[in-house]
Amino acid sequence: MNFYLTTFENVTGLPELFAYIFIFIFGAAIGSFLNVVIHRVPNEESIVFPNSACPNCKKSIKPYDNIPILSWMILGGKCRNCKNPISPRYPAVELLTALLFVLVFWQIGLNAFLPVALIFVTATIALIFIDAENMILPNVITYPLLAFALLIRLIFPLVFDVSYFSDFKIFPLNQMGNYPLWATSLFGAILGGLLGGGSLWLVGEIWKRLRGVDAMGLGDVKMMFGVGALLGWQLTLLSIFLGAFSGAIIGIFLISRQKDKDMQTQIPFGIFLGIGSIISLLFGEQLVRWYFLMFVP
Ligand SMILES: [Zn+2]
Repeated sequence: MNFYLTTFENVTGLPELFAYIFIFIFGAAIGSFLNVVIHRVPNEESIVFPNSACPNCKKSIKPYDNIPILSWMILGGKCRNCKNPISPRYPAVELLTALLFVLVFWQIGLNAFLPVALIFVTATIALIFIDAENMILPNVITYPLLAFALLIRLIFPLVFDVSYFSDFKIFPLNQMGNYPLWATSLFGAILGGLLGGGSLWLVGEIWKRLRGVDAMGLGDVKMMFGVGALLGWQLTLLSIFLGAFSGAIIGIFLISRQKDKDMQTQIPFGIFLGIGSIISLLFGEQLVRWYFLMFVP
């Protein structure tokens, strides 16, 4: 996915630094929109109307008090009207989105895959924070993510280059030279989706049979269908591995701090799958290459 089409400097004549500043501001604005999504989507509220309001006094927030990251700092983390504290989660989501956008641009560059990666990361951040707060991964995000992934896998081989999709280089896609590129790409998407969603579904089923509890929500399964379709089977396995690994570390930490040892600790696994997926999208190919260099003789 490191196929550079052009550079920002070639297009505009401005130094690359401007591109990073622009993408940071753009990311912060998207993060501001994500705050609305994270808050309203689980309650099935419109994300367009009404305007943002203070959660305490319900006074609508003026545009000049709604500047990503800055407004929260200027107002000292308080509502201008009622002085009630406003959660630092708002500027944190904005800052995180801005930094991730910078990271995506730095890693992927100015090419046709850049908007795809930014949309993927945006949807994943929404899923991570909604899962953290509500323990759900809403269909209104996971279904469009899957549809988007399939569409991209179909369109990109027709219009652009296929070098964005790393699974073209590996089995079984690298054996499909007789088929049109779009068919190969779509096959890779379905394979990745089935592996991502299917493997989680299987783990959930086995756990349900053994322990009699629903450990894995179907939201995780749907989410990984979409992730798998875009990333292909290898990077999807890596996403799940990274997710399970980080989830297990946090899980053990939480269980060790838990007083009542009999209580079931529910861990919103979507958070870790989301983090794993973003790492895979950005650094997956390097990680896989490094793994084979280090551990496979
Ligand atoms: Zn207020």
